[in-house]
Amino acid sequence: MQDPDIRRQIPAAQKIWQAMPNPLPVSRYWVRRAMDVVLDELRQDAVQGQLPPPVPIIVQNILHKAEEWAIPHLKPVINATGVLIHTNLGRSPLPAEIMEMVKDVATQYSTLEYEVEAGRRGSRHDHVAGVLADLVGGEAAMVVNNNAAAVLMALSALARGQEVVVSRGELVEIGGSFRIPEVMALSGAILREVGATNKTHARDYIGAINTNTGMLLKVHQSNFRVIGFTQGLSTADLVRIGREYGIVVMEDLGSGVIDPLRLEDVVEPSVKEVVGAGVDIVTFSGDKLLGGPQAGIIVGKAAIIDRLKKYPLARAVRVDKMTLSALEGTIRWYLEGRAQELPLWHMMTQTVDTLQQRATAVAQVLRQRVSGPVDIDTAPDFSQIGGGSMPGTHIPSVVVRVTPQDGSVVPHFEQRLRYARMPVIARISHGSVIFDLRTIFPSQESLLIDTIVMALEEALFT
Ligand SMILES: *Cc1c(COP(=O)(O)O)cnc(C)c1O
Repeated sequence: MQDPDIRRQIPAAQKIWQAMPNPLPVSRYWVRRAMDVVLDELRQDAVQGQLPPPVPIIVQNILHKAEEWAIPHLKPVINATGVLIHTNLGRSPLPAEIMEMVKDVATQYSTLEYEVEAGRRGSRHDHVAGVLADLVGGEAAMVVNNNAAAVLMALSALARGQEVVVSRGELVEIGGSFRIPEVMALSGAILREVGATNKTHARDYIGAINTNTGMLLKVHQSNFRVIGFTQGLSTADLVRIGREYGIVVMEDLGSGVIDPLRLEDVVEPSVKEVVGAGVDIVTFSGDKLLGGPQAGIIVGKAAIIDRLKKYPLARAVRVDKMTLSALEGTIRWYLEGRAQELPLWHMMTQTVDTLQQRATAVAQVLRQRVSGPVDIDTAPDFSQIGGGSMPGTHIPSVVVRVTPQDGSVVPHFEQRLRYARMPVIARISHGSVIFDLRTIFPSQESLLIDTIVMALEEALFT
C-alpha cells in the first residue's frame, strides 16, 4: 500500500525548478525529461516506504542524468583493440584537415551540381572523377553511398534478367547479411556459379557462357581465405575471356587499396592493377584500405559508367556532399604524396620501436598513478587490419597490459572503461586488459591514462 504521507513529501516540480542553477548547464529539454524520470523514481520509492532525499540532492540527481543525456549518442571512443578498420567503431578515421574542407562545403552553398564557368547544372560525380582517373586510371568514375550499393546497382543496371558468371570460391558473405547470392537475387540478375570452392578454371567460365550471359564477375574473397590446392583466374584472364565473347567483366574489389599491399604471405590486389588489367568496371569501398569516408567507388569504361549514372537506382544510392568532399580530399592526399598522413595509414605504418616507446611511457605513468594490487607492463602483440580486409594477417604491435591480481576484477574493469565519458574499447586476454597502442592516437594518451586510472579505482574499490 502506498503511504500518502511519504508521497506528499516529494517536492513539487516547481520547487525543484526554483532550486535549479541559472543558467542551466544543459538544455532545458534534457532537464525536464530527467526530472520526469527522477520524480517517477521517487514516487516508486514512496510506495516502498522510502523518503525522498532533500531538494539539493534531487536537483543533483536530475542534472547528472540530464548531462548524460545531453551528450550525443553517436560519439567518439578510444579504439584500443588494435583493429584498424573496425566496422563497429566507424572504420577509417578522417584527418581534421580534410574535415575542414567538408565543413566549408557543408556550412555554405557549394558547386555540388553546378558548373560555375558554364553557369549551368553539373554532375556531382565530376568532383572526384578527375582526381580518381589521375590516381588509378580508368576512363570514368562514379561514387555512391557504399560499396554494397555499388555492387547491387551495377548488377541490376548491367545484368538484370541475365546470367552473371561467378566462381563458387567467391560466393562470399561480407557481413551484415550482404551475401553475393542474395545481392544477386535482389538485383534481378541470375547467378550462374561455376567451378569448385577451391578451384575454378578458364574453361569453367567459357563453358557457362551462353546468349543470356550478361556479365563475368570476380569478387574479392575479403574476410576469408582458401589455402592449399587452389586456383582462380586473374583479372587479366577474365578480361581476356570477356573481350573474346563480348561480355562485361566486373570486379568487386572490396577493400580498395591503391597500391599493392603485402603482409606476411598475403598480397592485397590494388585498384591500379585491376583497372590496368582492363576490367570494364571495378567497385570498392571508400572507408576500408583507402582510408577515406564511407562510399562506394566505381571506376571503369565511360560507356558503362554512363549507363550506371542514368540508372534509376543511382538516385536511391546517391552520395551526399559531405562524403564527396571528404573523398575528394582523401584522393588528393594520395596524389600529393600525403597518403601516409591519413590516420589509417599513419597508424598502420608506425614502427614497433615507436609503439614500444609510447607503450613504455604510458605504462610508466600508469604505474605511478595506480596504487592497487595491479600489475602493469608492456608486451608484444598483434594488430589486425579488420573490415574484412586481409584476414589472417597480423601486424606486430605493442600493448600496455593491465593485470589486476584478483582476476574477478577484470570484467568489471573492462566494463568501467566502456562506461567512461570517452569510452575506451579494449580487449581482455589471459586475465589482463590490453591496450594496443597502434590504434590509439598519441593525442588520446593522457585521456586514456586518466580513464584507466578511474576505471581501475571503480573496479577495485566499489
Ligand atoms: C566490404 C565489401 C563490400 C561491402 O562494402 P561496403 O563499403 O561495406 O558497403 C562488398 N564487397 C566486398 C568484396 C567487400 O569486401
